[in-house]
Amino acid sequence: MVRHLIAEQVLIGQDIVPAHVEVDHQGAVRRITRIAPGQSARQAEIVRARDVSGGTGMLMVHPRVVVLPGNVDTHVHINEPGRTSWEGFATGTMAAALGGVTSIVDMPLNSVPPTVDVPSLEIKKQAAMGQTFVDVGFWGGIVPGNTEQLEPLWNAGVFGFKCFLLDSGVPEFPPVSPADLRAAMQRVAQFDGLVIVHAEDAKTIDTATAALGQRRRVKRYADWAATRPQEAEMTAIEGLLDAVRETGCRTHILHLAAASALDLIQDARAEGLPITVETCPHYLCFEAEAVPDGAAEFKCCPPIRDSGNRDALWQGLQEGLIDMVVTDHSPATGQEKYRGAPDLSEAWGGVSGLQVGFAAVASAARERGIGLDQVSKWMSTSTAQLVGLTHKGQIAVGYDADFALYDPQENHVVSAAGLAHKNPISAYDGYELHGTVVGSVLRGAELFSAQDTSASVLSGGEFLRGKGFAIGDQLNIGAMSSS
Ligand SMILES: [Zn+2]
Repeated sequence: MVRHLIAEQVLIGQDIVPAHVEVDHQGAVRRITRIAPGQSARQAEIVRARDVSGGTGMLMVHPRVVVLPGNVDTHVHINEPGRTSWEGFATGTMAAALGGVTSIVDMPLNSVPPTVDVPSLEIKKQAAMGQTFVDVGFWGGIVPGNTEQLEPLWNAGVFGFKCFLLDSGVPEFPPVSPADLRAAMQRVAQFDGLVIVHAEDAKTIDTATAALGQRRRVKRYADWAATRPQEAEMTAIEGLLDAVRETGCRTHILHLAAASALDLIQDARAEGLPITVETCPHYLCFEAEAVPDGAAEFKCCPPIRDSGNRDALWQGLQEGLIDMVVTDHSPATGQEKYRGAPDLSEAWGGVSGLQVGFAAVASAARERGIGLDQVSKWMSTSTAQLVGLTHKGQIAVGYDADFALYDPQENHVVSAAGLAHKNPISAYDGYELHGTVVGSVLRGAELFSAQDTSASVLSGGEFLRGKGFAIGDQLNIGAMSSS
């Protein structure tokens, strides 16, 4: 256990300052003392001298390394049980730990059964039990006919409810009609829950696909992306905003890729609608025109768009129209990912970026003159706030001692084969990172450290619960591991 973290660079509030962070027995931050620059070695001596244990539990951080709050990734597909060959809790959460992500919230679909009622949530928790390296929470799902299951799921601790406005890619998680959506949103608004939406419009996509005519089989990424144009997102978001206006339900727009929708979002915010918006590292780091032909690693829905769009998404983040960045880690087997290769139309859509997402965004942000404090806000503070994790997302007294240790000067070329998630496929293969995550700490426990390769990752993750969780509800959701 880390009891004293001493570092020249700790992100506290918006400032990166030298500090001594003390951690209590429960793994929460007990005290933060700012120290003078260059005095961390001296501070360590003071602690050693006064600590009866002689300084055990002291983590002296290299002066080059920045200590940030552990990242909170609220958009991850673990796929276990049911599609465990695609991803599992052990491999997925190991990838998270190695990427400086200390909390994830798992999506309700692609695992079987999907998390659309309390029994299926319990099945997922049983699958996760004892094999998570970071803290894990769960989203519930909205599918046609399960409106009555939403409040029980909320009371069982899910953070909100995901739905699709078009085909989700898996048959057991069908999309909702406008009427289903309104019924669900009305219900969720009654208990002040949160609805999260994959917003693309099927009709717009069908029309764009038909326009391709004989060229339906496409290996050029930009051609495939043209079948899911920006208008598909805009149309879906317009319809969704109507439903928000009618129901007053708190609503979150998932993985925004179309910068042209930012005007709609700006107007909706001016109107006071309760909406939040996320985008993903792959939309911020890549551009459609540079993706190699047939490279299904980059296929995701909505698609990566052109470089001008990418710049506009960064602008949207800086202006606060987009609130946060999440990975939407959605892996699959090679068989699924390369189905029909080099044609992209049959390939599974999803980018595997959980382990490199933070470093990739931090690296790209630096090139744009954007600081680590801002990246940390998008990938930790704001995501924790979205799901109401009031003890995560900041380095502050009373908060969990979850840290990501980041070395801005350690350059690294990503190798998909070297990543910890289950299938060695990633759009980031060969991507050059300027800055690398070199350690992470979960509630005071050092998960890994680049300095000490003998330190092994512990399966000490716990279940996270949404604010609807009923205290009297004695479901089997305590600590998942005694380690
Ligand atoms: Zn997703």
